[in-house]
Amino acid sequence: LQPKFPSTGTTIFTVMSALAQEHAAINLSQGFPDFPIDPKLGALVAEAINQGYNQYAPMTGLPALRQVLAAKIARFQQVTVDPDTEITITPGATYAIYTAFCTLLQPGDEVIVPEPAYDSYIPNIISSGGVPVPVSLDPADFSIDWDKIAAAITPRTKAIIVNNPHNPSGSTLQEQDLLQLQELAVQHNLYVIADEVYEHLVYDGAQHLSVLRYPELRARSFVTYSFGKALHSTGWKIGYMVAPPELSQAFRQMHQYLAFSVNTPMQQAIAGYLQDFDQLQATASFLQKKRDYFLQEMAQTRFTWLQPAQGSYFQVMDYSALSDLPDKEFAIWLTREHGVATIPLSSFCSQPVNSRRVRFCFAKQEATLEAAVARLKQV
Ligand code: PMP
Ligand code: GLN
Repeated sequence: LQPKFPSTGTTIFTVMSALAQEHAAINLSQGFPDFPIDPKLGALVAEAINQGYNQYAPMTGLPALRQVLAAKIARFQQVTVDPDTEITITPGATYAIYTAFCTLLQPGDEVIVPEPAYDSYIPNIISSGGVPVPVSLDPADFSIDWDKIAAAITPRTKAIIVNNPHNPSGSTLQEQDLLQLQELAVQHNLYVIADEVYEHLVYDGAQHLSVLRYPELRARSFVTYSFGKALHSTGWKIGYMVAPPELSQAFRQMHQYLAFSVNTPMQQAIAGYLQDFDQLQATASFLQKKRDYFLQEMAQTRFTWLQPAQGSYFQVMDYSALSDLPDKEFAIWLTREHGVATIPLSSFCSQPVNSRRVRFCFAKQEATLEAAVARLKQV
């Protein structure tokens, strides 16, 4: 077999989680909670199965779920979305992003990717026939330099992908960013893939600003979400794509021959659970407490950080006071010798970077964070 990606190894998330297991390390690498989902949600899944929601769901998703999602978007983003023509339920956000690239790209189309970036974007662009064009974020605060983005646009640029709140940095886009994105997208006739999977994990009283709020941006955007993040259930792999009717139609044309439809009882359970939006609102303060606890404890180590995560459940830390090792070697050494697994930041970059930074996931029980920091104090 001629491999499509001859130089690509196994994803860093798989590698670090396996290394954590091998060395009985505390796993703050791959992003997933170590606490249970709400038992009410689990009970709703059992109920859906027992009530017979066990056959194929409609290709676009259960109507009840799409309706509650439209109501949720109206509540949190103050915009009206048509559940029938603009929302498609997908088997996770990674799938939705890949399907959007398949829908959009013709051979040779360029896609701008601000880096560091979630690791599936670039392979997905390449396997859809596109050409990724990485543009570095400001290393000081991971903000987007819009002049640099503008300079990377060519006549072949078809789209830009933005991730807000951002994995791995925890930075968020501000109003000015979204207005600049809108201006560039309109001026150069670009599509936008907006990865907003951490929409409900935004801290310090800030509000998530979706691209859906900006009409000219929304008109050209595929916006993706994941219940794995909102409901602490990463293993369920369910999410959804919001796009204007014409784009949704093209997306569904592709989706019907990829997954076709998504796990029915989970959809039914989530539709029931989301009747009460207050639980989603509580998610941010629940995770903010974990971020604050983690930072308060990490202040007693020699790791440093530039700013607390504004969103997501990741905190980037600098270890240059501790070691000169490149970040991948440092992450392996830290797992083996000190029993704490992290993700090296350079794994989110396609260009070589001289990083002395690693990413910690703080979506963990306080006891897990406490035990991890006790080990990190010894480094
Ligand atoms: N985008 C980002 C930025 C993520 O961190 C994740 C988490 N894995 C995903 C997409 C994928 O979400 P899902 O598990 O629903 O595919
Ligand atoms: N999104 C999660 C992370 O960034 C996990 C992704 C994965 O395991 N593929 O850690």
